[in-house]
Amino acid sequence: MSILVTGGAGFIGSHLVETLVHITAGGGLGGIAGRIIALDNFNDYYDPRLKRANAAALAAHAQVAVVEGDFRDCALVRDLLAKHRVRAICHLGAAPGVPFSLQKPLETVENNVLGTLALLEAARQHPVERFVFASSSSVYGRGAAAPFVEDAPLGTPANTYGASKRAAELLGLTYAQSHGVPFVSLRFFNVYGPRLRPEMALAVFTRKILEGSPLPLHGDGSVLRDFTHVSDICRGIVAALTAAGVVGQCLNLGNDRPITIRRLIELIEQAAGRMAVIDQLPPRSEDLPLTHASLEKSRRLLGYAPTIPVEQGVAEYVEWMRGTSK
Ligand code: NAD
Repeated sequence: MSILVTGGAGFIGSHLVETLVHITAGGGLGGIAGRIIALDNFNDYYDPRLKRANAAALAAHAQVAVVEGDFRDCALVRDLLAKHRVRAICHLGAAPGVPFSLQKPLETVENNVLGTLALLEAARQHPVERFVFASSSSVYGRGAAAPFVEDAPLGTPANTYGASKRAAELLGLTYAQSHGVPFVSLRFFNVYGPRLRPEMALAVFTRKILEGSPLPLHGDGSVLRDFTHVSDICRGIVAALTAAGVVGQCLNLGNDRPITIRRLIELIEQAAGRMAVIDQLPPRSEDLPLTHASLEKSRRLLGYAPTIPVEQGVAEYVEWMRGTSK
């Protein structure tokens, strides 16, 4: 029996595959994931060499099969589900960024919405026990009351990326209701940790501070973000694979402790032992002023509780980045 992880060579996907390897080696997950299939198309959204390095490390584990391919390829996905007797899907593959979604809205919707629909169809034809979808805090959009509560009214997404994640969520919820696909949507909040996507703010800021070069800051740094460590996100995903009462639900995976971007920069400065040189840029209309997860529902249904304080996680991240730039 196997578990399929789309986007398995990416930042969160590669951490999830590692987590699943450790859990299944210890006999966990009730046999759902004897084998882990990491499907990735190694696209050039960011340097594919980083994804290939992630995949090479994963492929060293006997339980992992890395498959190069696209989750929109219906024949490939059908074959994988049948051949590996897949019992659960973790759908993490996506066009994951806000700026990209503004430059390439059609590609974003094709990958995030139609791609998710293709996988939902595959799961309708080859029933699985759980379909976990990587959604985002971006679905809350402008106008949602903070902290963001899953079942309270949503605002309008501030960008195409958020709209694409909400559209995919709605398709999944429909497939849960109409076709019995055991879909659960997890809304990730500002995930960070080793192997973070290189274009993300924490990665860019850390690189610039370590190099001593100007750091591009959009706006005055007062926006608040609920930074959540990737290991906490993986624990939440694993819980969602077997928890009762979560099918057809949306659940937040956040940290419930937003900090300003200015504070983030201070934490990097402390860990790096160097001050930032700020290159002040105008604010961007696509940025929400705040992300903040209510964790009441995910605590109740998943037993989810974040464990890594942002001060510790950022310090460890800076150390990791220092190690990679040696
Ligand atoms: P990532 O880009 O590192 O990982 C995504 C992976 O999916 C990449 O390796 C990419 O090559 C692969 N991929 C993309 N389209 C594909 C396709 N059509 N077929 C096969 N593989 C494909 O991004 P990430 O930060 O690890 O994000 C993982 C998921 O979590 C995404 O769905 C993203 O939207 C979601 N998410 C991330 C964050 C965050 O802060 N990183 C926050 C909220 C939600």
